Amino acid sequence: MAAVAMDFLQKYAPVVADQFVSMNSTQAQNTLYGDVNLDNLNWLERTWASYYIWMGNPVLATGVMSFLLHEIVYFGRAIPWLIIDAIPYFHQWKIQPDKHITRAQIWKCTKVVLLTHFTCELPLIYAFHPICCYFGMSTYEVPFSPIGLMAAQIAFFFVFEDMFHYWAHRALHYGPLYKHIHKLHHEFAAPIGIAAEYAHPLEVLILAQGTISGPFLYCLFRKDLHILTVYLWITLRLWQAVDAHSGYDFPWSLRHFLPFWAGADHHDFHHMTFTSCFSTSFRWWDYSLGTDVKYHAYKERLAKAKKNERAKLEKELNEKHLIEGQEAERLVLLGGKNKVEKIKIGSGKTQ
Ligand SMILES: [Zn+2]
Ligand SMILES: [Zn+2]
Repeated sequence: MAAVAMDFLQKYAPVVADQFVSMNSTQAQNTLYGDVNLDNLNWLERTWASYYIWMGNPVLATGVMSFLLHEIVYFGRAIPWLIIDAIPYFHQWKIQPDKHITRAQIWKCTKVVLLTHFTCELPLIYAFHPICCYFGMSTYEVPFSPIGLMAAQIAFFFVFEDMFHYWAHRALHYGPLYKHIHKLHHEFAAPIGIAAEYAHPLEVLILAQGTISGPFLYCLFRKDLHILTVYLWITLRLWQAVDAHSGYDFPWSLRHFLPFWAGADHHDFHHMTFTSCFSTSFRWWDYSLGTDVKYHAYKERLAKAKKNERAKLEKELNEKHLIEGQEAERLVLLGGKNKVEKIKIGSGKTQ
């Protein structure tokens, strides 16, 4: 079976077939870096090359590195949020201060996330290297791209992902798609960092397209993208996703310095109200299409309230939004087309 698959690849995609060959270190050095003087490279580039030479199989090397990167970055960012949540001092910046997650919920969330990572993402991550080669992305190659080019590429990936996510997320709120796919992610009306990927496997696959399609789309037009840049992009995207679900908005959170950055404040409101704020990183899609009207009205009311009355008003508004959100969700789950259309997207009110 493996031989048939290899023959097929060698015939129709020799570039991909080459990646499955295992080599000893001398062969790996000659095959992968025969024309590169490794002594002229910086420490990171030499370490990168040594790793691929040591592994002797670029597919396996990229697969292992990609999977470990995802796990380390995801849990490395999510676990500190659990610690922060356990320290009462930080609760003054909790977006929904009355909502607390139980240990049972954290454990359930962790199990679902790990199950999705190992059953759904692992096989795809293993296929990542051949797909990258197919699109002409550099993988084991050194040197890396210049920093300026990396920054421009990552900026493009952010903008593309945000656009993709906005529309895909709105589609996932359509009756049948919500009922069978997106509902699981909305189990947390007040999310926590580790719940960023607490979702149906199909949702993980659909929304992951926004993260990985940008780099592949870029490769169709230019052949100067290195997988290290994609790793940096995925790291930033995972940080963004985990932070957006953290449930905390600090005075030093990025959105206070970058007004178009969505942050936890924005996405938490989506989980609370159900019908507002669909984008991931930026605010411009929701703002342009009016799906954040309710969010801005809420912020304005809080800003205008007297300081000593703000906490009470915030509590009242949060409770009201949660009830409206539950009602909006109930109507979507009912599935009747007329009933679904009665939900005014952006306001959360039924008409
Ligand atoms: Zn949603
Ligand atoms: Zn979410």
